[in-house]
Amino acid sequence: MGIDPKDIVMVSVMPCTAKKFEIGRDNENAAGVPDVDISITTRELARLIERVGLNFNALPDEQFDTPLGISTGAGVIFGATGGVMEAALRTAVWKLTGEEADSPIDFTEVRGVQGIKEATYQVAGMEVRVAVVSGLKNAAELLNKVKSGEANYHFIEIMGCPGGCVNGGGQPQVPASVRNFTDIRALRAKALYDADASMPLRKSHDNPAVRELYDTYLGAPGSHKAHEILHTTYVKRKIHEI
Ligand code: SF4
Repeated sequence: MGIDPKDIVMVSVMPCTAKKFEIGRDNENAAGVPDVDISITTRELARLIERVGLNFNALPDEQFDTPLGISTGAGVIFGATGGVMEAALRTAVWKLTGEEADSPIDFTEVRGVQGIKEATYQVAGMEVRVAVVSGLKNAAELLNKVKSGEANYHFIEIMGCPGGCVNGGGQPQVPASVRNFTDIRALRAKALYDADASMPLRKSHDNPAVRELYDTYLGAPGSHKAHEILHTTYVKRKIHEI
C-alpha cells in the first residue's frame, strides 16, 4: 500500500497477558520496526468499551478493512486447544492429497478440552501422527514421553493455558459461582467452532490475502523469508524475568 512501516501503529487485542512482554522482544519485527506497537487484553478492551459507555448492540455492522479484515474459519479456531492443529491439518491434508478442492475440513479428534489429545490420520498413503496439549503440566508430561522415545509425532501443538487462548490470562474473568458449574472453556470453544462452521472460507490457504502475501512477499510457505519473519525461538528464562 506504499505506507512507511514507521507510520503504522499496530494494536493487537489479545486473550493473553504474555503478549505485552512479547511485543518488546528483539526478534519480533519484520521491517526494522516492531510488528506490534500496543497489546491490550480482551478484558482491557471490554473495560474501555464499558468506561466510554459504548453500546455495541446499537452500532451498525460494517466490513473490516482489507487486507487484515479477510479471515477464515481456520484462523478463528486458533483460540481453542487443537485449533492450530486443525487449521494446519486442513492445509497439510489438502497439500498432501494433491490439492483437492474438497479435502476434509473437520478434524474432530483434536477438538475438546482434554489436556492431552492424540490422533493418527491416513493421508496419501502416509500415517500422520499428531498430539495436542494445553496446560504446562500436560506439556511437560508429553514432552517427557517424546524425550524418552515412548511417543513420537509429526506435529505437536502446545498451548500454555488449559483449554487454549479461550481461557487466557487476559480474558474476561468469570466468577467462581459460574465457573464451578459451567465449563467456560468448552462454551467459548463452541462459540469459535460455530463461527468457523458459518464462514465461507474455512482453510488458511483459501484466504486471498494470505495467498497474495506469499505470492508477492514471503515467496512460499517455509521459505527462508517466511521462516525468518514468522518463526521465533525460545530461551530459558527465570521466573519474573523481563
Ligand atoms: S494459550 Fe494462553 S499463554 Fe498461550 S497464547 Fe493463548 S492465552 Fe497466551
